[in-house]
Formats: sequence, C-alpha cells, structure tokens
Amino acid sequence: MDYSPAPENPDLAIEWLKKHNSTFGLFINGKWFRPKSAPVFKTVNPANGKKLAMITEAGETEVNLAVNSAKLAFPKWNALSGHERARFLYAIARQIQKHSRLFAVLESMDNGKTIRETRDIDVPLVIRHFYHHAGWAQTLENEFPEHTAIGPVGQIIPWNFPLMLLSWKIAPALAAGNTVVLKPAEFTPLTALLFAEICSNTGIPPGVLNVLTGSGNTGSMLVKHPDLKKIAFTGSTEVGKIIREQTADSDKKLTLELGGKSPFIVFEDADLDSAIEGLVDAIWFNQGQVCCAGSRLLVQESVAEKFIERIKIRMIKLRVGDPLDKSMDMGALIAPIQKDRIQKLVDQAKKDGAEIWQWQGKLPQNGCFFPPTLLTNVSPASTVAQTEIFGPVLSSMTFRTPDEALMLANNSTYGLAASVWSENINQSLHLAPKIKVGVVWINCTNQFDASAGFGGYRESGYGREGGHEGMFEYLNLKKKMDVYVKRLKVKQASIYAKSDQNKLDRTAKLYIGGKQTRPDSGYSLPVLSSDGALAGEIGHGNRKDIRNAVESANKACKWHSLNPHARAQILYFIAENLEIRSKEFENRIVSLTGLNKKQAALEVKTSLSRIFTYAALADKHEGLIHQPPIRGLSLALNEPIGVIGIVCPDEVPLLGLLSLLLPALAMGNSVILVPSRPFALIATDLYQVLETSDVPSGVVNIVTGESHELGAILAKHDDVAGLWVVGTKEECTNAKKFSTGNMKIVWTCDGKAIDWFDSQQSEGREWMRRASQVKNVWIPYGE
Ligand code: NDP
Repeated sequence: MDYSPAPENPDLAIEWLKKHNSTFGLFINGKWFRPKSAPVFKTVNPANGKKLAMITEAGETEVNLAVNSAKLAFPKWNALSGHERARFLYAIARQIQKHSRLFAVLESMDNGKTIRETRDIDVPLVIRHFYHHAGWAQTLENEFPEHTAIGPVGQIIPWNFPLMLLSWKIAPALAAGNTVVLKPAEFTPLTALLFAEICSNTGIPPGVLNVLTGSGNTGSMLVKHPDLKKIAFTGSTEVGKIIREQTADSDKKLTLELGGKSPFIVFEDADLDSAIEGLVDAIWFNQGQVCCAGSRLLVQESVAEKFIERIKIRMIKLRVGDPLDKSMDMGALIAPIQKDRIQKLVDQAKKDGAEIWQWQGKLPQNGCFFPPTLLTNVSPASTVAQTEIFGPVLSSMTFRTPDEALMLANNSTYGLAASVWSENINQSLHLAPKIKVGVVWINCTNQFDASAGFGGYRESGYGREGGHEGMFEYLNLKKKMDVYVKRLKVKQASIYAKSDQNKLDRTAKLYIGGKQTRPDSGYSLPVLSSDGALAGEIGHGNRKDIRNAVESANKACKWHSLNPHARAQILYFIAENLEIRSKEFENRIVSLTGLNKKQAALEVKTSLSRIFTYAALADKHEGLIHQPPIRGLSLALNEPIGVIGIVCPDEVPLLGLLSLLLPALAMGNSVILVPSRPFALIATDLYQVLETSDVPSGVVNIVTGESHELGAILAKHDDVAGLWVVGTKEECTNAKKFSTGNMKIVWTCDGKAIDWFDSQQSEGREWMRRASQVKNVWIPYGE
C-alpha cells in the first residue's frame, strides 16, 4: 500500500503574512518599528525556494533602541511579584496553545522541517516550556531566596529549532525577572515575529520582550552592547568562541549551547528493532540538523553487519518530500549553502575510503533536499567522524568491548549528548557517567523536557537550559561584590636567584602528584614577612610544572569515582589535622600578613568550619530525579567538572584558598592550586596536612609562582576542564580570553573582592554548583 498525499492547509500562515504585507519591522518596546533606512532581506521557504516575506535588518540605532527599552522595562518587571510574572508566562503558554497550528505551519514553511515534527514535537515542547517556567516564576522567591534577576539580557538563536530555542531562552529569562532582546536566525525569523505579536496580546509590559531580526552583525552588536548583562547564545562552536572572546573583558554572564557530534552506541544485547527506530529519530529527525543528532553510530562488531543491513532496509522506507505533507519523515534542508557543505563532507568521506549508501527515492525537483545517507567503513579520526555535518548523514563505526565503545564515544572535541542501547541496564548505567556529555539517553534518543536541563560539556559549550539548573543561568546572587581586587605588590628582592643545589635547601617545593618536587626552572622566589624580612622561598613554577601537575591531576580519577561519603571522611580528616597544627598556621599568618594573633586565630577557626561545611555538603549536593511527560525518568546527576585550576586570592590567604579548594574536592574534582604569591608559604605548609589526611596523590597539586603567569598557562591548557581565578580584572579577563580555544568552564571574581568571612558569599551550594555540571540520564521504563 502506498501513501497518498496528506497536505496541511497553509492558509492561516499565508493570511498572517498577508496581514503584514509580507514585510516585517522589528518588535521594540511593545510595538512594531519599521526604520526607514534599515536594509531588508528576504526569508524563503526552503522546500520550494519561494519568498515568504521581507525582513528588517537591525543596525546599531535599532540595537540601541531595543536594548534601551529592555533596560528601562527591567526595574518594573523585576519588581513584579513572582505570581504576577507567572500569570504572564501562563498567558503566553495559552496564547501559543491557541495558535498552535499557525505556529506549526509557519515554522514548517520558514524552516523546511516537516509539519509532523513542528506540530507534534516543537510546538508542544514550547508550550510545556512556558507552563513549566510559569511555575518557576510563581515559586521564585521561595525556591531561589538568595538570588535575583540579572537585568536586560541578549539572546541569539540559530535556525534549526527557531521557536523551540526561543522558548528555551525567553521562558527562564522572563520567569527570573529579566527583560530580553532576542535575535532569531536570518533564515528563520518568522515564528519569533509571530511570537512577539502574540505575546503583546497578553498585555506584557512594553520593553520586556524585544525581537530584533538581522544578520550575524546584529548578533555581534548585541554581544558587545555594554547595557546587556548576559548573553545566551545557541549556535555553532565557531561563533561561540568569538562571543566568548568578545565578552571576556566584561562581567556579562554567558551561556553557550554549541555544536555536537553525538555517539549512538548499540551493544550486541540491544533490542535491535527499537535501536533502528531510535536511530531514524537520532539522525534523520529535522534532516539531521540537530545539535545533539546521533551522527556517530558505534555498533558492537558482533551485530554490526546485521544492524547495518537493517538500517538500509529501514532507510528505503523513509519518506522525503514536501514538509507540509503530514506523512513525510524528512523535509528540506535550510538553504543551498548548507546542502553544498554537506555534499562536500560526503565527497570527503568518499576520498577518505568510506562507503556511501543513500536513500534511493525521488527528491522533489525544487527546493533544498538531501537524501538520507549512511557512511560505513569510517575511520574514527576521519573528517566525517569528527566534524559536525549538521545534515542527514550518519557515520558508522564498530567496537568490540564496552571500554572501546567508551573510548570512541569520548573521542570528540564535543560533548553534547549520547544514546546507549543495551538490554543490560547495569552496563548502560555504568557507562553513562563516563561519557563526557551533558545528556545520556538510555534506550531512547532526542528526549527533551522543560524540567530537564539541556547543555554540553567541552566544545559543546556550558550552561544548561531548562529545569532547576537552567534557572540559575538567569539569576545572580543577591550579595554584591563591588570592591576591586588589588594584588599585593611583592617586593622583588634581589634574592630572586637560582637555588644552590649544594646548600641546604630551605625553599618550599612544589607539590605535584603527592610529592614535593623542585620547580623545573630551578629558580625560587622570595616570600617576605610583614616586616620585610625574608620569611622563606618558594619554587618559581613554570609551564612544565603545570603540565606535570595536570597530568597527575588527570590520573587521579579514583577521586571522582570515590563515593561522596568517603570523600567527606577525608575532608573531615583534613580539618582534624589542620586543627592539630592550628597554632603553626596562626603564627604563619601573623608573620606574613601582619595581622594580630586574634585575627589570625579567627581565620584558622573559620577555615576549620569551612572544611566542615564542605565535608557536610560532599554527600548532600545530590541530583534530582525528573519525571518528564514520558514513561520514564530523567536523572539529573551533579558531576565533577574534572581537573580544575584555581588561582587563589591574596586576601585572607588560608581561608581564601580553602574556600576555593574545598568545594572542588567535595564534588570530586582534582585540583591544581596556584597560591597567593606573597603568602604562598601558607599553602606549602598545607602539604603535610594533606599527606596525613589520606588525600590521594594527584588530587591536590600546588604550583607556586607568579599568579598571572601560571593562571595564563592553566587557561591555555587543553586538559584543564575548569578554571577559577580570584585576582585583578586583567587576570580575570585573561583567564576567559586565553581559554577560548578549549572552551573550559571559567569562573572569575571579575576583579572584585570577595568577603571570605561572609558565608553567604563564600560558602555553600553556590560553590558546589560552580564545581559541578549537570548530566541528565534518561531512562524509559515499561515494555
Ligand atoms: P551560527 O553560529 O552561524 O548562528 C547562530 C546565531 O548566531 C544566528 O542567529 C546567527 O545569525 C548569529 N551569529 C552569527 N555570527 C554571529 C556573531 N559573530 N556574533 C553574534 N551572533 C552571530 O549557527 P547556525 O545558525 O549555523 O546553527 C547551527 C549550529 O547551532 C550548529 O553548530 C548546532 O549544533 C548549533 N546548535 C546547538 C544547540 C544546543 O543546544 N547546543 C541547539 C541547536 C543548534 P545569522 O542567522 O544571521 O547568521
């Protein structure tokens, strides 16, 4: 039996376009604004190449107008009660529900994706997002009592899920009390404009939501705008890196949802029929233009041949064609430029020795279509195994053992998602925490829900969208830090000299891999006491010392897998051993800083309490179990970031250092500490405390030297996953700038001082959150 055409009626969408004369201005301060001199560009239907409408390109004047209206609207919007904001979000959800068919059709026409997907996936998820976040707005004061909105935020989205990504950005921003300037992609502006119009039906105050259409240039102007307090970006890793560099010298909050090359792992004991259906969804959903597309098939060798044959049979049955035909599986690609890019990558695969198998059906004559494509005989290092193709092209590889599957899965610069297929749940749950990605789907794929945060590891970006964790991306701590840090100027005494190996060496060495080691340079630096006398010397660490420290920190992976109770026990042990030597530390503080005994005793006492806090939290910063609207659960696990570099403050050197080190350890990270240059002897006194407290070797590495030099080396190091810097504004900017290439997760004080005695600023869950990243593991149940 063959399918008959089942066309969706596009009249509603055509009528809406006509109502606007198929020409759109910008949505600023609650109304349409059509600047006379601004250039316009056309948006077309990729399925037939026909023009849909003319769109305005926002320039500097319009960007300023929109940002200004968001800025002016912010105080009032933020001052509304959670309940008042919740009512607006709820009304938006209702409006979208009411106009859901119009949204679905318009999205399909502007993007080329099938009506089946826009109607059954995109739009329902958008509605769910606004309902869910109406709930966060309602409960904000109780759920996030220590947090407050950030201000006006800039949001930039790509073309592959125009309406859905809009909702992922706007709903949490508004719920938290921020105002928004959103820039949709040049290819797909229409549903954002319809959304703006429909929102105004809810009576939402003018300026709370502004939509600026335009090119990458418009996006760039938003990124650089001084009045925006946050940039939330979804798009390519390439542009994500540019944005990170451009925002490095500002204190703008930044979340980046970037590209991916996600593995789809099939074990020999998987239900292969289900896995095939999962695979169709993983790689041919939305023509493969999905950031988390399962574009790398890893199949166990014993079933590979059988599985590949079944894929081919299944591929024959796929239906590719008019996106508005309700029975189509695949629609059109976004644009010819994307089609050419995909073709080039397939040609490259051929040159690299891959075998190509393509869907044999007839593609529509007009429009931008590409056949579902399977590449076999792909080598793991080849371009198509590493590059995000962003099209309906599956690269398949095989593995023999679970370890090999894991190695291949992690053999990517990206880390967005993974799908694991096996009837052995033990094996899947054993693997899930080891795959370096933000989402793992077990025996399912492409599951999304507003309650479960979505986002990546590594070059797939950072930050989460959705759920409890996503709300923090739109909130700041209420407590303000506003005094700028000044690094203590250290007198460069003439004692800066090469250590004499023949003399009795009193230089405190570096601490790497659980051993005290001489610095590679052979040089030491003086540490002076408060009266200017020489208190001792420290090693002058360099690039090679950092490299060794990173290597040993990376080897200390047992710490990550130790259970939280065991980690807590070791932290308590640190407190015990520090207490035994408290007088020694007090004397050191007095001699180096010039504080009086009482002040030094308070610092040591507070430090002990801080250790207790993190020993307590080690087994309490647990994840959540989400119950999304599927038959299954999503486990939001708080995972360590990995290896974190920490550049410590000069002020209150013992308490400052421990306040940073402890949350990182409690979450299971291993650490490279760069202690305060003038007070580094306090850190080197800690070696013995660490050694006697059963801290495994390599978990804490201490490299002394010049903070700005070592901070820059840590920022550039590809195997350091996170970096925290407390220092001057310049040191903080450099930490962000120098790590653009590897996209590590960076937190800095932005040059502002932290009161380390104030537990609200310097202790608790906020720090545990900084030391962790959320991974959502989806587990369906039922037969
Ligand atoms: P781009 O990075 O090219 O563009 C994304 C958005 O940024 C567009 O609105 C674009 O404008 C704008 N833009 C382009 N250059 C700049 C700039 N210099 N400064 C500020 N804004 C700029 O990505 P694509 O649109 O090609 O989208 C595909 C990418 O998005 C893929 O890599 C995909 O993986 C990723 N993505 C990630 C998701 C995630 O959640 N992690 C989800 C969906 C997609 P314009 O359209 O005018 O060029």
